[in-house]
Amino acid sequence: MAKAREGGPIVVLGSGMAGGVAVKTLREEGYGGRLVLIGPEPTLPFGRPPLSKTYLRGEEQLSGWLVNPPGWYAENDVELVAATAIRLDTAARRVELDSGEAVGYAKLLLTTGGRNRRLEVAGAGLAGVHQLRTVAECDSIKNAVRAGGRAVVVGMGFIGSEVAASLRQLGMEVIAVLPGGAPLETVLGAEMAEVMAGIHRDAGIELITQDQVVRFEGAARVERAVTKIGRRLDCDLAVVAVGIQADVEILKGTEVAVDNGVVVDARCQTNISEIFAAGDVANHLHPLFGRIRVEHYNNAEKQGAAAARSILGSTAGYGYLHTFWSDQYEHKLEYVGHVRRWDEFVVRGSTRNRKLVGFYLAEGVLRAAVGLDRGGDPELDEHGEMAAAGRLIARGARPSPAALADDDQDLDRL
Ligand SMILES: Cc1cc2nc3c(=O)[nH]c(=O)nc-3n(C[C@H](O)[C@H](O)[C@H](O)COP(=O)(O)OP(=O)(O)OC[C@H]3O[C@@H](n4cnc5c(N)ncnc54)[C@H](O)[C@@H]3O)c2cc1C
Repeated sequence: MAKAREGGPIVVLGSGMAGGVAVKTLREEGYGGRLVLIGPEPTLPFGRPPLSKTYLRGEEQLSGWLVNPPGWYAENDVELVAATAIRLDTAARRVELDSGEAVGYAKLLLTTGGRNRRLEVAGAGLAGVHQLRTVAECDSIKNAVRAGGRAVVVGMGFIGSEVAASLRQLGMEVIAVLPGGAPLETVLGAEMAEVMAGIHRDAGIELITQDQVVRFEGAARVERAVTKIGRRLDCDLAVVAVGIQADVEILKGTEVAVDNGVVVDARCQTNISEIFAAGDVANHLHPLFGRIRVEHYNNAEKQGAAAARSILGSTAGYGYLHTFWSDQYEHKLEYVGHVRRWDEFVVRGSTRNRKLVGFYLAEGVLRAAVGLDRGGDPELDEHGEMAAAGRLIARGARPSPAALADDDQDLDRL
């Protein structure tokens, strides 16, 4: 790879996972020029997964989730700037910050991630109605948790499902309101979503499906959520988890192409040659899955590194076979591949026992697989069924559904 040992400056905008990994990779790959990492969060780059799980439940601190140790930035001459960029001037190649400063760049990496979608309903601003993305938001949920108290969780995607599980584990009564028929239905499909619904119900969560919160009520703070069909759900706190949108605020008025995130090519490069993007914000061109934007930790990590290498001249495309995981109660969900529409879902194992690997086929091609307490981590357990499923997905295999469902068939031989 051509290494730009000096030159620069390189500015990384957004000090989350992707930004933290990018600066690390730039230094590891030998870039020795000026390197600036800008972001408003008071935390050093870290992984957010524990915020809905172990950290929320008070079981773990975040030190193990830091991308780089605290001293690493000074030792590696990475300038940390605590600010939000409010304007990008692509002609002058500089970003203007809310602190009044401006920083010039030769190359710019956008790792601005996502911001929580707001629920635009009356009372959403009441005290006790929470969102979750940052440590501060997690801490305020933690402070509001009272065993025996009652929480309403709005939305049962990954964050909603994990928060609902954690609040339940902390002894709260939890009511979850969701527009679909079951948790995670859009991502995992109806059959898996029913399995997840069973898990939550058995844990004591009341699931209110096919409904939505239209209003929060309360005097000084939230006292209840009111739903479309008129249910009045008394609560001590509410957590709104209705998804994120790519944070492209800084690109308003610029010619950087935006369409469901920052549009980048296979090298993580935008339509402006010196500007790149990675992580939750990047709508990237994947060799297998086409144009996609994903909101997962493993992608932020791998793509942050890939974008850094592209900035230094690598011509390798980013073709990571996407993976992610979710922890809910004692259950572990693993996922490999990517699919939004499929025509067949094949189960190996048992939905009744909640131990299975599920395969998603579109026109006969295996595009994704999900493991629930079975199949191992597709990244770490190379002999596991999930890793084998990943190998099938990578080669565009068309395995027979009967063989996929058959416990005795070695997936690597299909
Ligand atoms: C509670 C929670 C639990 C999760 N659990 C899992 C999990 O179990 N498994 C999994 O795969 N994924 C999980 N994720 C998703 C994962 O955390 C994200 O995919 C990952 O954080 C994306 O990293 P990122 O660096 O792209 O963006 P972010 O982490 O969103 O970081 C972006 C940063 O950019 C900053 N920024 C935005 N605009 C500007 C600007 N104009 N100027 C300067 N800075 C700016 C933001 O403040 C932020 O600090 C979870 C997410 C959350 C919130």
